[in-house]
Formats: sequence, C-alpha cells, structure tokens
Amino acid sequence: MNVHEFQAKQLLAQHGVAVPAGEMCDNPESARTAAEKLIASGHSRVVVKSQIHAGGRGKGVFKSGLQGGVKVCSNPEEVFVNARAMLGQTLVTKQTGPEGRVVNKLLIEAASSIKKEFYLAVLLDRAVSRPIVMASTEGGMDIEEVAARTPEKIVKESIDPAVGMMPYQARKLAAALGLKGELIAAGAKLTLGVYRTWWELDATLVEINPLCLVEAGGKESLIALDGKIGFDDNALYRHKDIQAMRDLNEEAPLEIEASNYQLNYIKLDGNIACLVNGAGLAMATMDIIQHFGGSPANFLDVGGGASEEQVAAAFKIIMQDPNVKGILVNIFGGIMDCNVIATGIVAAVRETGLNLPLVVRLEGNNVVAGQKTLAESGLTLITGDSMADAARKVVKAVTA
Ligand code: GDP
Ligand code: MN
Repeated sequence: MNVHEFQAKQLLAQHGVAVPAGEMCDNPESARTAAEKLIASGHSRVVVKSQIHAGGRGKGVFKSGLQGGVKVCSNPEEVFVNARAMLGQTLVTKQTGPEGRVVNKLLIEAASSIKKEFYLAVLLDRAVSRPIVMASTEGGMDIEEVAARTPEKIVKESIDPAVGMMPYQARKLAAALGLKGELIAAGAKLTLGVYRTWWELDATLVEINPLCLVEAGGKESLIALDGKIGFDDNALYRHKDIQAMRDLNEEAPLEIEASNYQLNYIKLDGNIACLVNGAGLAMATMDIIQHFGGSPANFLDVGGGASEEQVAAAFKIIMQDPNVKGILVNIFGGIMDCNVIATGIVAAVRETGLNLPLVVRLEGNNVVAGQKTLAESGLTLITGDSMADAARKVVKAVTA
C-alpha cells in the first residue's frame, strides 16, 4: 500500500524528521486559507503540491495544458488560482503513464529557500536480506538515471537488522553528502529518523527526494521536501492508523473489488484470465500459459479455502477486464473442495452470460462431484486433463 506525500510527511515528522509546515486541502478556498495562515506565521512563499500516488509531479503536465503539479506561489490569491486550476484535473507525469491521475487533494506548504538537493532512501536489499540506506548528492533527479549514469554518486550503508542503524553509519552518510560542521549531526539525526520510520512502520520503501539544505533567517538546516512511503501489505494488520490512510481513488478498481473478497488479484497486460488456488500454482499457471505462447491477463489466487461467493466474485472480476479473450481455471483441491469451485463458476457464468472460451482443469479433493456439477450445468466449456493440456487448449482458443 502507498500513501500520499502529506501522509508520508506526517509519519516522518512523528519520527523526528524535519518537514515543512503545511496542510492538506481539497478545495481552492481552504487552500487560500491555509496559505494565509502560513504567510501570517512568517513564511514569505507557499507551495501548492498535487497529491497523487506518483512522482515526477514537478515536471508533470495537466491534460488541461497547465504545466507543473508543484507550484511555488508568493501570495494566497496565487495559491487559490493554482489550486482551482489543479483540483479535479488530470496530471500526467513520467510515472502515471499517458492516462494520468486525477488530482483530488493538494498539500499547501511553506516554501523553502533551497541551497542544495540530496537523495535519501531506505529499502530492503534482497540480495543480502538486510535493510539498506542509500544517499546521493544528486537530489531531485530520477534516481534510476543517477544509478545508470553515475553509480559512484550513490553511497550505501547496509544495516544489521538485529541492531538497527548505528549513529556512526548515519554520520558517515551525512559526511559523504558533503555536509560540514553541525549539519553532519543534523543530517545523521534526520537519516536515523527516516530509518526508524521505515523499520517501525513495516515500510518497504521510504524515499526522500529531495532532502534539502535550506536557508531561513541566515541559518541553514536540513528538511525533507518530498516524501514517499510504501508499506508491506502483509504487515498492515499491525498498523490500523496506516490502513486508515488508504486512498481508494489511487488504486485500480478491480484490485479494490478483489481485496473486498480477500482475493489476491493483480491485473496484467495479456488476454488469458486465470483463476487459480494458491499463489505458487497461480505463478506456475502464468508460466505455462507463456510457455505455450499465450499471455496471462492477471494473477489471481482465490486462496485455499474459498467460498462459492468468493469464486463467483473472482470470476466476475476477471471478466471485467476488456482485454480478456479466454479463461483458464486451474484448481488443485488440496484443502479446496473442487465442487465449491465448480458451483461458484456455474453461478457466475449464469449470472454474467459468459461468451468466451472457458477451459477448466480440476484435480483433487471432491473432483468427481465438481466435474458432475460442471457437466450437468449445460455450460459450454473445455476440460483440460492436465495443466499443460489445459494451457495448450486455452492458448489455442484465444488465438483461433
Ligand atoms: P515530484 O516532482 O513529484 O518528485 O515532487 P517534489 O516534491 O520532489 O517537487 C518537485 C520539485 O519542486 C523539487 O525537486 C523542487 O525543486 C521543487 N520544490 C518543491 N518544493 C519547493 C519549495 O519549497 N521551494 C522551492 N524553491 N522549490 C520547491
Ligand atoms: Mn520528489
């Protein structure tokens, strides 16, 4: 699960990371009021920032023609005008794809006078099964590009998860960024705060791009100017406050529908829908479809003990994808009762009036009853004797 920048900054601030003063607004009037408050408290400029679950907003372009999803403004009226121009409009960035994302929320924030931009991130280094903290002097840029062109400009510290990030590691990174004097301690404190955010919230990624050296009243300090956090969905049950930050407007509608039925569904680009029980079998099913020259339209694991309702819901979800030209049901009933699957499929097909080729391979627990249910349903379906046979048949059916 991902959250918006304003939510990431709230969580970072709770872990001692300095962030600009600001608030989330969803209409132009409240954006103006927020700007008035910031200016009254001594800030000379205010930034209007589009809140979408995608980066590259600064360089993004709205479909309306407006340039930039991040605007620095010098008075509340300018904030109002920009807020009105952004809200409800579709912002297209390098990360959104050409369809873009509708901006429903803005972060109205005190603008900073930036002297230098850095990059800081914590993620999991899967190669060594440890957290890794990465920093770079090349802030504000696409980090993938920095990694490709000037990898020496990214410094890394591998963390022992049993002891956590040590203060000396944080100071080492701060020094590697070229910070001097008191700013080394400030940089180390901020880095430790970012690490603790990642660790304590079960995040998969915390990224500050840019982390800025800013100047205010002749004094320099470090501040997280942007913030992105991704969470491990399997650990979300431990964080009710983070679950409450979920923004359904930012998620694929079919994936939301699937999660309402506790189904693991991920939409893909192909045209063969799969309905499978168990994640491993679902992956193997996608592989075998590819092996026979087809392309899966989704990953779908209905789980080991799915009910008829869940199977029917799963079936309806995969059929809502307009790219789907054929369906492969591949069930190995270990715990799963094959007849439950068969009954669920029959109910869903009747309800939706399916007119696409449907290949079914059932094996295992109560398979005879399941096959009988399918045979007596009067539905036209193709049965597969084995996984390979079923995959071959569905690929043939969609290419015919
Ligand atoms: P992103 O484009 O989605 O990554 O959004 P960011 O929050 O990183 O903002 C994009 C860029 O806008 C930053 O890299 C900064 O250069 C600029 N920016 C954001 N906030 C401020 C600010 O307070 N002051 C100034 N001068 N520039 C800002
Ligand atoms: Mn950024």
